Amino acid sequence: MRVAIIGGGISGLTTAFYLEQERRRGAPLSFTVFEAESRFGGVIQTERVNDCVIEAGPDSFLSTKPWARELCDDLRLSSQLIGSRDDTRKTYVLIGGRLEPIPPGMQMMVPTRIGPVLGSRLFSRATKLAMAREYLFPPQPLDPDDDETVASFVSRHFNSELVDRLADPLLTGIYGGDAGELSARATLPQMIDMECRHHSLVRGALAARASQRTAAPPQSIFTAMRDGMQRLVESIVRQLPREALRCSRRVEALKPHENSWQITASEAAEEFDHVILALPSYVSAKLIADLPGSERSVELLSEISYSSAVNVALAYNSASITLPPGFGFLVPRREGKRMIACTFVHNKFDHRAPKSTALLRVFMGGSRDTEILNLSEEQITELVRRELCEILKLEAEPQLVRVFKWHKAMPQYGVGHLLRIARLEMHMQRFPTLHLSGNAYHGIGVSDCVRSGRNAADAIMRRMRSQRALA
Ligand SMILES: Cc1cc2nc3c(=O)[nH]c(=O)nc-3n(C[C@H](O)[C@H](O)[C@H](O)COP(=O)(O)OP(=O)(O)OC[C@H]3O[C@@H](n4cnc5c(N)ncnc54)[C@H](O)[C@@H]3O)c2cc1C
Repeated sequence: MRVAIIGGGISGLTTAFYLEQERRRGAPLSFTVFEAESRFGGVIQTERVNDCVIEAGPDSFLSTKPWARELCDDLRLSSQLIGSRDDTRKTYVLIGGRLEPIPPGMQMMVPTRIGPVLGSRLFSRATKLAMAREYLFPPQPLDPDDDETVASFVSRHFNSELVDRLADPLLTGIYGGDAGELSARATLPQMIDMECRHHSLVRGALAARASQRTAAPPQSIFTAMRDGMQRLVESIVRQLPREALRCSRRVEALKPHENSWQITASEAAEEFDHVILALPSYVSAKLIADLPGSERSVELLSEISYSSAVNVALAYNSASITLPPGFGFLVPRREGKRMIACTFVHNKFDHRAPKSTALLRVFMGGSRDTEILNLSEEQITELVRRELCEILKLEAEPQLVRVFKWHKAMPQYGVGHLLRIARLEMHMQRFPTLHLSGNAYHGIGVSDCVRSGRNAADAIMRRMRSQRALA
């Protein structure tokens, strides 16, 4: 069985890794990974400059989602894993030009401790009252067949101030999206579950906290790789047969050919029995556009919109600057800044910068600011430095600056996303040897992508076994 994996980001590479495990155990298969760029990893990219570990894309994955950690175990990379330094965790929100800390005990936008919320200047009295009201008189849960925006969900439970000051900045930081457009069901599934079970999110969060106390000791919120996320990519690539890896090979066409698929990349055509599209959904839509019977799938794939991201790393001599303690800050859109968030990387993880260096990572772009991609690196640097000066009084000259632009890299899970994906998967059943994976469908995080890549490998192995059983 010949398998083509189109897209060499973490989703495609995970499929390749698990297929390789099967091949080594004797499964009669071969596979080829086609990657358009000259390197594998997609948006996972780490640079080491002046002893700083600089992440151009993701810096970690959520520890509560186990799939990336399991992959690291399978790669024998467990000793590389480091947790975020949660003892120093403190995140601020810029309100009226001042950095106000998110009070301890907040689970996303849901309070679990009264004292810190009462004393917080992040929320008005009206919001504090709304939190108490939500606990005492929770709203009716969303109808199981319905979906709504994150903004509507959070306003229904609390109020619009909590959307503006916390929900929207948090979601913008993760998805580069807008709480007024993102789907509550797709982006806040645990909260939808809490709503279903407890009606009140505050009650649900308190119950979750109580059960966590009796369960295993808490793990760090984020897990990273000591040498940077690219280590994960390199470790997979090292374990794959060299002849299976094709970088700088953009797939231009996909055609059915007898009982197989013909793939054309760099003008060379090859045939495969299974094809995995580990690609942005708009690329997959283009590749399948001419397949008879693909019209509805193409439409559904094209409905998933994308935002772009700009990520700027700045290193300073720590003796020359003063930063508040903690992991960094979020910037609500009402503040009128172009930056979305800033992470104090040297505080969030160990092994990121020499002791004498403060490493900052600033996020910009998203659906909030599509124009930013048109600015030059110099203009972006100047903008970031001006805003850091306004927010943190940071006037010192950075020792190094790196600007990374990611064009159309963040899928937006709009209202109705889960239903759209269910329909898409139903329509794709017409093509049982064509598989979709990647960040556009069941989660945007690194760990979600690992799960989707692994599921694609499992689907192929299941099909192969059932074909052999029938033969
Ligand atoms: C700036 C940024 C920060 C992030 N931070 C975090 C974080 O901290 N934690 C977290 O969990 N997640 C984070 N994410 C999300 C996460 O990193 C991504 O969702 C995930 O890495 C996507 O992996 P993928 O393989 O699905 O897609 P991609 O990485 O986009 O890979 C797709 C690959 O397909 C290739 N390709 C495209 N067209 C073709 C073609 N025609 N032929 C062949 N190849 C093609 C592309 O070149 C690319 O390499 C972040 C994302 C970004 C952009």
